[in-house]
Amino acid sequence: MTNSSEFIPVSEPLITPEDLLAVQHALKDGWISGEGPIVSTFEEKMATICNRKYGIAVSNGSVALDLLFEAMDFSPGDEVILPSFTIISCLNQLLRLGVKPVFVDADPVTWNMDVSQVEALITPKTRAILATHIYGLPVDMKPLMEIAQKHGVDVLEDAAEAHGLLYKNQICGSFGLASTFSFYANKNITTGEGGMILTDSPELASKLRTLRNLSFNPEKRFVHEELGWNSRLGAMQCALGISQLDRLSSIIGRRQEIAAMYREGLKGLDHLHLPAEKTDYADNHYWVFGVTLNEESQFTMPQLRKLLEDKGIGTRPFFYPLHRQPVLSKYGISPEASPLPVSEYLGRSGFYIPNGLGISNEAIKRVIAAISNVLN
Ligand SMILES: *Cc1c(COP(=O)(O)O)cnc(C)c1O
Repeated sequence: MTNSSEFIPVSEPLITPEDLLAVQHALKDGWISGEGPIVSTFEEKMATICNRKYGIAVSNGSVALDLLFEAMDFSPGDEVILPSFTIISCLNQLLRLGVKPVFVDADPVTWNMDVSQVEALITPKTRAILATHIYGLPVDMKPLMEIAQKHGVDVLEDAAEAHGLLYKNQICGSFGLASTFSFYANKNITTGEGGMILTDSPELASKLRTLRNLSFNPEKRFVHEELGWNSRLGAMQCALGISQLDRLSSIIGRRQEIAAMYREGLKGLDHLHLPAEKTDYADNHYWVFGVTLNEESQFTMPQLRKLLEDKGIGTRPFFYPLHRQPVLSKYGISPEASPLPVSEYLGRSGFYIPNGLGISNEAIKRVIAAISNVLN
């Protein structure tokens, strides 16, 4: 083992000389705020890649969801169907708006929302279904779109982990009424912090632009009919995003290369399950390389993570299921109400290992050696 003293972070970003130049140019041009040509170029590029008409850049992927839910004009008591196995960002603004979250369990193979469970959860109050693509495989969108259409319910897509991911031949971020992205430091395309909403609806796009920009009034700027937020994304970050988008396919290629090394190096280890390589509708692009530790192992997932950390390997636990979040009780929802066994199992037993774009093959070999060493 080489460099065995150096800690390997779970996600080390890769910033190239081209990225640095792009940010420098933005600074030199003097367009540094959240307005101007660099921001609109980034929005247009993202929209084009995802076959959408409009992009609205915002300060992060969580705010993208907040603004989208706000713009949907949900009423208290409306219902939104969403996966339990996802990040809190999918839930925040729904709870604040008084919308009832209806949680769907995960598919044990893809870890995505189990679409076969969705139709039974639709009621006359259902306003939308949030499809969140998890860890590198997409939600099974075709049957989901069919169910939504049959019941007249909107589909919203959280594609924060799915830049460039294909469902059959259709790109993620192009499904349903609108989709959201994150450009956080560990995402496939990063601006450090950042997010975007994409849609084909001119009304929705215009509403989102207004909400993003304090709901300034186009005629009388400082006279407000509505409340908004300041969730603009700065031009320096957009410049970084544009530069990264130019190499999206090589970014995905590298993630898959890292995954291939892990698949080869970690196969056959006792009690360790590797992620699905593909389904009949998509190839995994491994936004993260997630593994689960089955419950016959001598270790719990936190114990194994600790042993790896002691060997200088950074890992991160899987999402904690939303339906069990303690904060739900503050909104009158019992976290115990509905057991969703797959999401709970994933939350207990899953974690992901270093696969940031900045990782070296040497470091990947060290991760493989450390895990093999602990589990054998
Ligand atoms: C990262 C992520 C978000 C939140 O994005 P931020 O930019 O970190 O706020 C939302 N949804 C999913 C599925 C994510 O992975």
